Amino acid sequence: MRAERIAPGLAIAAIATAPAWLGAYQLALLTYVGLSAIVALGLVVLTGNAGLSSFGQAAIVGIGAYVAAILTTQAGLSPWLTLPAALAVCGLGAWSGGVVMVRLSGHYLSLATIAFGAAMYFLFGGLEITGGQNGLSVPDTLFEGAALNYAIVWAALLANMTMLANLLDSRMGRAIRALKEHAAMAEAMGIDTNAAKSGVFVIACLMAGLVGWFYAYFQRFVNPSPFSLAAGIDYVFMAVLGGAEMLWGAVAGAAIVTLLKPVLQARLPWLLGAAGNFEGVVFGAIVILLFQFAPEGLLPRLRAWLGWSGLRARAVSGGQLPSGHGISAGEVLSVEGARKSFGGLLANADVGLTVNASEVVALIGPNGAGKSTFFDLVTGATRADAGAFRLGGQTITGLSTRAIARRGLARSFQHVRLVGDMTAIENVALGAHRRGARSMLSSMLGLGRAEERAFLATALHQLERTGLGHLAWQNAASFALGQQRILEIARALAADPILLLLDEPAAGLRHQEKQALATMIRALRSDGLAILLVEHDMDFVMALADRVVVMEFGRVIASGKPRAVQADRRVQEAYLGAPLAAPAGEALS
Ligand code: ADP
Ligand code: MG
Repeated sequence: MRAERIAPGLAIAAIATAPAWLGAYQLALLTYVGLSAIVALGLVVLTGNAGLSSFGQAAIVGIGAYVAAILTTQAGLSPWLTLPAALAVCGLGAWSGGVVMVRLSGHYLSLATIAFGAAMYFLFGGLEITGGQNGLSVPDTLFEGAALNYAIVWAALLANMTMLANLLDSRMGRAIRALKEHAAMAEAMGIDTNAAKSGVFVIACLMAGLVGWFYAYFQRFVNPSPFSLAAGIDYVFMAVLGGAEMLWGAVAGAAIVTLLKPVLQARLPWLLGAAGNFEGVVFGAIVILLFQFAPEGLLPRLRAWLGWSGLRARAVSGGQLPSGHGISAGEVLSVEGARKSFGGLLANADVGLTVNASEVVALIGPNGAGKSTFFDLVTGATRADAGAFRLGGQTITGLSTRAIARRGLARSFQHVRLVGDMTAIENVALGAHRRGARSMLSSMLGLGRAEERAFLATALHQLERTGLGHLAWQNAASFALGQQRILEIARALAADPILLLLDEPAAGLRHQEKQALATMIRALRSDGLAILLVEHDMDFVMALADRVVVMEFGRVIASGKPRAVQADRRVQEAYLGAPLAAPAGEALS
């Protein structure tokens, strides 16, 4: 544990003292390591955390470099004026390109960035203003001397790492970390996932643009080859090799690739007795081996091998986030005439129900009755063909999932959707997203500390409320299914909702876990929450619900107090004629 905390300090000490014991050539090499690491760092956030791949980062570095070189040679601008210009072009370009790019996902996004990288390379090499394949010579330098250049680049690298660490540990950082696997869940937490994707895209491109700008004056020469698609692939390789989820992984990957490449370039042709770019073959082999034996990257693998968990409990103090609304009373959810058809199939036909404050309503019915469809209509995940939906007295008909979440609806999912490599407290804090306000920029600058404390205090409170307080700093992936379901409820509660939608909360739970869950739901009801749940376990529903609504073939066939519904003939027939007094704990469908 101690060694784990000392390691970054030792690394920084080695970086800081390097000029004292290294020569100019080695320092120049390390300067390139630092520059590559800054680009790879952007990919750690973009790819490792947000799950968006980009093979076009070298082209962005090129744009930064060419903007600097062209403005210097053609307009005679000083480097300190070309810096904002290079950042503006890369940032605005990323923002406008990002609007299109972030809507693509998976392979399509990768292919789009490959196409972009290839196109930019030909543009750099084909235009007159960029000097074609001959490139441009840059008359100015920024800083004299290898040691100073080294110091500036590594200071910039450490500053970027600090900003990104601040970002990842914030409201927007948690949103970013949820994007990779759980964008739909994030939207249900009130997160604007497209804006978050655009944001990380802009950040990664600003970092690449900064590197390009510096490179133009450091190298004093700009030509297309360092900004090729192959270079773009190298940056991805650095991030993946070091460990794409860890900031230090970018530094490790950049160091290994940048330092190994000249060695291989010099030795391999000699070893093999032939001329050629054999280092590409070696790197290709390394990638294949890496994906086989350490797909998470070298640094995370090293950390696991040393038994460093990377998790540490932090003190949580101070007040919680402000609550948006008081305890509500009366009707919280009202739905009239909800209708949805899929092709010829009427999944919801004129479904209506209300849920009041301090009330638990259970929606039951055989498989295929239309319960999940109804949930999707209420949460805005699916758009209704017709119907009037009101939440807390306001109409929510036709609103997006995000907008409805912001009006006080929180939910759990039938198939648990937690961010497995995030701690329980972070997962719960994700639910509170809509109650905070800090932007990516202010978090990066370290201005969001007070809000972050309030987020953690709020999340810890909900964990304690649901009996998971002692597990706050464990990763959600290590939780048993029962605990994961409760964790989802804690996350929903962190949103400070007026209505809680629970999709089969008892599924897969053991008897005692179900009883604990029922006790908890009763306590939430006493606190004034309106709760709507879909559940298959009859005993659980009958003992807990104030009212039961039964659906069959897309219609409500009965509703009322549990006993009355249980006695209803149509309800009994709906369940294959089986009487509803089923043996204890038996699921009906
Ligand atoms: P329940 O949750 O009560 O089991 P659902 O709401 O999932 O029922 O499904 C109701 C009916 O609608 C089923 O016949 C189902 O096959 C159909 N259905 C649900 N979602 C879709 C969809 N996206 N496309 C086509 N049919 C669907
Ligand atoms: Mg269902």
